[in-house]
Amino acid sequence: MPARVQFREDRCKGCLLCVQACPSGIILQSSRFNQLGYKIAEIPHERMQECKGCAFCALMCPDYAITVFKIEEDA
Ligand code: SF4
Ligand code: SF4
Repeated sequence: MPARVQFREDRCKGCLLCVQACPSGIILQSSRFNQLGYKIAEIPHERMQECKGCAFCALMCPDYAITVFKIEEDA
């Protein structure tokens, strides 16, 4: 099922546990910093379609910074 992943960048501590958890390998460390001074995790826009919607990333994040939305497809 297609899915969309949203990061709450203000909560991210840059631990990259989500990067390790993603079976699709689409989560990367950004070159951007958040207000806390951490390099945040992100998914490049063009790779979001590779997301399986498994939510492993959200389960792994210790800071509840990730929400996975499953996208219903028309039958
Ligand atoms: S939901 Fe699964 S496939 Fe999608 S970014 Fe998270 S870990 Fe990767
Ligand atoms: S697991 Fe959470 S806190 Fe760690 S890098 Fe990923 S989004 Fe940021």
